[in-house]
Amino acid sequence: MKPFAYLRPGSVAEAVRACAADPAARFLGGGTNLVDLMKLGVESPGLLIDVSRLPLDQVTRTEDGGLRIGATVRNSDLAAHPGVRGDYPALTQALLSGASGQLRNTATTGGNLLQRTRCPYFQDVSKPCNKRAPGSGCPAREGAHRDLAVLGHSQDCVATHPSDMAVALAALDATVVLHGPEGERTVPVTGFHRLPGDNPDQDTVIRPGELITEVVLPPPAAVGPSLYRKARDRASYAFALASVAAVLRVREGRVEHAALAFGGLAHRPWRARAAEDVLRGGPATEEAFARAVDAELAAARPLRDNGFKVDLARRLASGALAELTSQAAAV
Ligand SMILES: Cc1cc2nc3c(=O)[nH]c(=O)nc-3n(C[C@H](O)[C@H](O)[C@H](O)COP(=O)(O)OP(=O)(O)OC[C@H]3O[C@@H](n4cnc5c(N)ncnc54)[C@H](O)[C@@H]3O)c2cc1C
Ligand code: SF4
Repeated sequence: MKPFAYLRPGSVAEAVRACAADPAARFLGGGTNLVDLMKLGVESPGLLIDVSRLPLDQVTRTEDGGLRIGATVRNSDLAAHPGVRGDYPALTQALLSGASGQLRNTATTGGNLLQRTRCPYFQDVSKPCNKRAPGSGCPAREGAHRDLAVLGHSQDCVATHPSDMAVALAALDATVVLHGPEGERTVPVTGFHRLPGDNPDQDTVIRPGELITEVVLPPPAAVGPSLYRKARDRASYAFALASVAAVLRVREGRVEHAALAFGGLAHRPWRARAAEDVLRGGPATEEAFARAVDAELAAARPLRDNGFKVDLARRLASGALAELTSQAAAV
């Protein structure tokens, strides 16, 4: 591993200043992804700015009744928070479906959003990869791509985004708060991660030196009942082959509000706007759910070995919507 300097800043302003001043600097959250990538030689920062002890470790209510989640809140603490468990169950379920207990005790909210793809070529510095070394090629397109994208991929990259938490946040209409050299700005989670296009080295819209300080959830009444379902190769400690976060409010048998996001299918959490358009105002029936999900997945362009993911996603999403409908009927 290349030697690096280590800084533990005392404030957000100091962290941002230090990062903006050094293009080779990286923020360090729990380190569960960044340190692994350093060991593999994928990342070689000259300076690690340890933000994990900044006072960003609280979950608090916003004035309108939503939740403000500090960027250094650990995944375990967030999953267990009563306000999250009670009002945003999809978020708790997504967090608990990811990684392992030990990893969740260390991983932070900010770091989870910015974890890198698990594409095997990206993690192997002996192979070409446009995301790691722009212009070098994408061996996954013709190679091992069973776990990779079926939606929104490009000629240059077919990677998927690995975070479960981000998928739930996308369906829950959360926003990310960023502090950078030019001040503060907010970005909806649905617009935070990018599609690969011809510059897959950019995972997100984050700008140089910007620090994630918070994630904000809207008030529960603006969201509604939610759940997260994930299909993977083994029951724990595995990334999603396909996953879905679903939000559904039904009134008198008709869909009042629906939000659907897929994980494991694309370079970013995939908000299913076409499905939502079909669902909104329609009957809350299994036939209507299947029609809506099909409308979204018509855009899928599977690669040679990953067509099975489309069917997995179809079943997960239709099942999640049906489950939310029966939960509402049982109340
Ligand atoms: C074996 C294994 C299995 C896993 N399985 C899953 C899974 O099933 N589902 C899942 O979702 N995840 C899974 N993970 C990933 C895990 O959730 C992430 O590694 C973790 O969430 C990253 O958080 P961190 O705080 O450790 O990030 P770090 O490793 O510290 O940082 C990750 C990136 O974020 C940047 N960063 C960190 N904090 C900030 C901030 N506040 N502002 C700006 N940039 C920041 C860093 O510079 C770095 O680029 C798994 C990991 C492992 C090792
Ligand atoms: S899919 Fe993306 S990350 Fe994987 S090899 Fe191709 S360019 Fe690299």
